Amino acid sequence: MSDSSSRNEALFQRAQRTIPGGVNSPVRAFRSVGGTPRFIERAEGARVWDADGKAYVDYVGSWGPAITGHAHPAIVEAVREAALRGLSFGAPTESEVEMAERICALLPSVEMLRLVSSGTEATMSAIRLARGFTGRDAIVKFEGCYHGHADSLLVKAGSGLLTFGNPSSGGVPADFAHHTIVLDYNDLEQVETAFKARGGEIAAIIVEPVAGNMNLVKPAPGFLEGLRRLCDEYGAVLIFDEVMTGFRVGPQGAQGLYGIVPDLTTLGKVIGGGMPVGAFGGRRDIMEKVAPLGPVYQAGTLSGSPVAVAAGLASLKLIEAPGFYAALGARTAALAAGLADAAREHGVAFSADTVGGMFGVYFSARPPASFADVMASDRERFNRFFHAMLDAGHYFAPSAFEAGFVSAAHTETDIAATVAAAREVFAKLG
Ligand code: PMP
Repeated sequence: MSDSSSRNEALFQRAQRTIPGGVNSPVRAFRSVGGTPRFIERAEGARVWDADGKAYVDYVGSWGPAITGHAHPAIVEAVREAALRGLSFGAPTESEVEMAERICALLPSVEMLRLVSSGTEATMSAIRLARGFTGRDAIVKFEGCYHGHADSLLVKAGSGLLTFGNPSSGGVPADFAHHTIVLDYNDLEQVETAFKARGGEIAAIIVEPVAGNMNLVKPAPGFLEGLRRLCDEYGAVLIFDEVMTGFRVGPQGAQGLYGIVPDLTTLGKVIGGGMPVGAFGGRRDIMEKVAPLGPVYQAGTLSGSPVAVAAGLASLKLIEAPGFYAALGARTAALAAGLADAAREHGVAFSADTVGGMFGVYFSARPPASFADVMASDRERFNRFFHAMLDAGHYFAPSAFEAGFVSAAHTETDIAATVAAAREVFAKLG
């Protein structure tokens, strides 16, 4: 149904004439849930305002970066100050060094770090580096994990466990996909079998240590430990893709939370504080293979952008405040518990789970442990929930397959208002 008086609707119609699907990243188009995307005019704290002037309590948080809330004054001021000194130099700056030092200090597994401008660049570069370091071509990834849109990562499972994958996107040569083995998340036996058969060919395992791109799926006990063991045994590089989980699930990311030391880590989102920043880093002997020290080429005109790095540094400073993660985790857990209670009151098959400041909501009785579980949840019910919540002024991710994010700016009152709205929605979902 289109509403001719809606500016969101008018902008969406206009956008579709010059931008594919009207959006610059597919999930924004509301294809999965239907309806008109909200064009955001401004955001502050826990709230976003759309083109019709309607306010929403925001649980997307720019898909993760807005961990301190939107337009945090300290971040905005850092950006302003940096911009006044010049937008970009294409030469090194002290702030990049400070950023690298800070991240190396926060993540003990990271001895050296390179900054890039997106999560996609970070994972693409980490894969190239792992291949260059090991001299091997194959990589292992898991179904339902998203690592950005580099060719080798847009791959779905092949016809059998040990066959190489097939492209999951047009434009990816089958030859590229053949170097990617796609396995089931949380199925360590499969990984063992794959390594037994092809261990000598495998350069790296790349994994989201908490999967946040198929809703939220936690690692099963022993899964990440097993990946570490297999990589050690076969000389493969373990890459933790912490673009989403980095500084989101705790002060040392998922690696700190679960006590696993990856060889390489990719970062994005929070480390940019809302500006385009990504990073890959890890073991010194591996990172020394990156150009100009080593043979693995990687570069970027705007890498380490002084304005973006200023935002990132300000964001990192804020999250280092004592008690930051305890408060964020408690707020997020309160949301999940409140939603689950409200659903139970109305007999709706629903569950919710959290890791730090990340949450998942599922229209299934238990949180999913695998991609298959996620696919089995009631998507149609999610879509109805999503739209009813949106109408009530609560903005959840517009897809049943995305994690949600709480920020330090969400107050107890915000969470209570969202839970109260959900209670009314669940009563009608029945
Ligand atoms: N890795 C993970 C785990 C992600 O969640 C994302 C983005 N959602 C990416 C990589 C890609 O990051 P970007 O969108 O910044 O390219």
